[in-house]
Amino acid sequence: MTENGEGNEQEKSRKSVKEGLLLKQTSSFQRWKRRYFKLRGRTLYYAKDSKSLIFDEVDLSDASVAETSTKNINNSFTVITPFRKLMLCAESRKEMEDWISALKSVQKWETYEASQFNMEHFSGMHNWYACSHARPTFCNVCREALPGVTSHGLSCEVCKFKAHKRCAVRSTNNCKWTTLASIGNDIIEDEDGVSMPHQWLEGNLPVSAKCVVCDRNCGSVRRLQDWRCLWCKAIVHNSCKEQLGKVCPLGQCKVSIIPPTALNSIDSDGFWKATSPSCSSPLLVMVNSKSGDNQGVKFLRRFKQLLNPAQVFDLMNGGPQLGLRLFQKFETFRILVCGGDGSVGWVLSELDKLSLHKQCQLGVLPLGTGNDLARVLGWGGLCDDDAQLLQILEKLERATTKMLDRWSVMTYEVPTKQTPAIVKEEDPSDSPLQITQYADSVATHLTKILDSDKHSDVISSCAMLNEKLDSLVKALSEDANAQLVPSGSISPDESDSDQSRPFRSREQLMLRANSLKKALRQIIDQAEKEKVVPQNCLCEQGDGKKKKAEDQLKEQPLININCINVHNTALAHTKGTKKALKKTSIKNLLQCTEKCVMNNYFGIGLDAKISLEFNNKRDEHPKKCSSRTKNMMWYGVLGTKELVQKTYKNLEQRVQLECDGVPMSLPSLQGLAVLNIPSYAGGINFWGGTKEDNNFGAPSFDDKKLEVVAVFGSMQMAMSRVINLQHHRIAQCRQVKITILGDEGVPVQVDGEAWIQPPGIVQIVHKNRAPMLTRDRAFESTLKSWEDKRKGDSRPARPRLNSQQSMEYLSEEECAQVQQLGLVADTLINRCVCVCLYEESMTSTQM
Ligand SMILES: [Zn+2]
Ligand SMILES: [Zn+2]
Ligand SMILES: [Zn+2]
Ligand SMILES: [Zn+2]
Repeated sequence: MTENGEGNEQEKSRKSVKEGLLLKQTSSFQRWKRRYFKLRGRTLYYAKDSKSLIFDEVDLSDASVAETSTKNINNSFTVITPFRKLMLCAESRKEMEDWISALKSVQKWETYEASQFNMEHFSGMHNWYACSHARPTFCNVCREALPGVTSHGLSCEVCKFKAHKRCAVRSTNNCKWTTLASIGNDIIEDEDGVSMPHQWLEGNLPVSAKCVVCDRNCGSVRRLQDWRCLWCKAIVHNSCKEQLGKVCPLGQCKVSIIPPTALNSIDSDGFWKATSPSCSSPLLVMVNSKSGDNQGVKFLRRFKQLLNPAQVFDLMNGGPQLGLRLFQKFETFRILVCGGDGSVGWVLSELDKLSLHKQCQLGVLPLGTGNDLARVLGWGGLCDDDAQLLQILEKLERATTKMLDRWSVMTYEVPTKQTPAIVKEEDPSDSPLQITQYADSVATHLTKILDSDKHSDVISSCAMLNEKLDSLVKALSEDANAQLVPSGSISPDESDSDQSRPFRSREQLMLRANSLKKALRQIIDQAEKEKVVPQNCLCEQGDGKKKKAEDQLKEQPLININCINVHNTALAHTKGTKKALKKTSIKNLLQCTEKCVMNNYFGIGLDAKISLEFNNKRDEHPKKCSSRTKNMMWYGVLGTKELVQKTYKNLEQRVQLECDGVPMSLPSLQGLAVLNIPSYAGGINFWGGTKEDNNFGAPSFDDKKLEVVAVFGSMQMAMSRVINLQHHRIAQCRQVKITILGDEGVPVQVDGEAWIQPPGIVQIVHKNRAPMLTRDRAFESTLKSWEDKRKGDSRPARPRLNSQQSMEYLSEEECAQVQQLGLVADTLINRCVCVCLYEESMTSTQM
């Protein structure tokens, strides 16, 4: 795309490359105004809104773009031209990055395509941000000093190239190399093959810099002088440079770095060909830039400085697939995820999709809250100090691999009576899932047909419907044959002929659809009446009377062998029934579909409700919940409220639990937790203990076993932080099945993500195992020094609990204390809200 003939230019100027709303700082510098911006060709246009007739123009021919500051919490950036400076502010960091790439591509004469992989990543262009320097600093373009006492100017966030704002546009695209092509003619070729030279940047050396050749002081505060390599960080005198070896040894991070020489050709399918023997275990770094109040941004920058910028990815900008897609041809590689457990889960599920578990191992650098997985893998609960990155990379190189069990959370929902339907509904609550699914999917297509104005949509939905009907009819007749139901009771012909006739008008279409669905319902109802449903022992529990359900379990003659196994406690433990058990689970699984994957834990009842309320609060007021401290306070308040109200008292009457097919009798409880890892809700060992005892094996995340515990109350959960409670242990098993009775949903959560699960079945079964990098013992001392450092930081006080008391014996005094805590927390929250509102009002006045 380097050709830029005139035709091309005209073509470009006609099409808008990017447009949208941005805040623009007014000339008074204190206020921001919302403006609509359009980028076309080499010109940036802006006006009050998209419909304005007159747009202001900015010629971008000699423009540079820079982020406004290092931290840049408000996503602002500056467009610098020889004639003016535009301070702009985007909605989100992603939006800002999109604008910056678009503006940069104008200068590179590249077509900007937001959806495709950002080739700017490989363009060699600097990533400017505006900043001040504590020491005299010199422009790498004109060699003059940056102005002012604080040497204000632009600095490249990756290579630290410095420039005057006016000079930035004249700097060559010589940022840190990413690919073989970017090294250009400097490449070293000898009998050993291709190797990389040092990449030198002149001047602006740190205080007390020493020359690697002569060991004397290096650099100057009076001029741009002497050199530093961007890769091995070697510093040399101008005069000593010749004496240093030509090949760059890549320095401390050598093992993790993917050398630019290794990235030399892209396959036709867009993957890097990984051929170089020089990178045996490259590290893909994936940072969630939003984690921990945007702490991720500084990690992103720091990793680009330490490694090849092409191996560092922002999860918020393209997701995990971007990096994985590029590097999936590497025989083996390591991945470092910097973020919370959610980010880790995201990357793991992407690895599932690409089936890459065999060729890569995953390490975690915990940012933000939660981080139970990082904890059990030995990486601690939080690392917010980017100065430690070198050590972390080193430890990662020495880390060992452990397998992490991963679990499918399968759900089956008993169809509810309130399903919106066009025709009169029969109670479908006991229809077998397979058929219900057909009905649902048919209903979806019908809705599409009814809602759509487009002929093509209608046609395609009809085709799908036809297919569905066909397969339904097929399935039904197969079922019918198998179970000796007279096939005459199904009337496929009627629906088929209805379907194939052309539709004349929308109204008629509706009539057709209605009669079609009616016919379908009839088929389904008919089939249900005729069919013996093996699982009806489960499905009929939907009527909400636990007593009745229990009676059924006891008294109802069990229809098939699978059901007997499910309910036979004694047999289930013996080896012989294991196969039968498996059969049962397969049968049950047929009913269920995978809702999500669980890496850490599953909760139902109380704690899920707390997470749910918290998530809702967070969605309603993202600002209020933006910082860790505030998060903790919300948790505190919600937990306290729960404790006082006891909303999930007697959950045992609304759910049934089966562990490995054995029904468990539950004590009076408010929730259940199913644990894969021995860390829960930010570091609680909820199982209570890490060792084997008379009843249970030691909990582990690689034994294909789950630990099931009862949640009695929030006090118990808080207590578990302090002492090892054990009276709440229920089981250790390979499979968990929870049946939600009644007609009301119950909150459940998986790895902190919560929702209301309608009545039906939730099953947790083993899915696969992922190789995870776990911390080496030698790392512990380093970690300890961080922890010590962290302790210095002020943290919100947690309720101090008397470790001898438990929830059941809460004295009046304690109750009063807890309520007092609630009040105090409320006050805190209100103050927080005040601060937030104040911040909000500040922001809005700036607009
Ligand atoms: Zn300059
Ligand atoms: Zn640079
Ligand atoms: Zn070097
Ligand atoms: Zn020297």
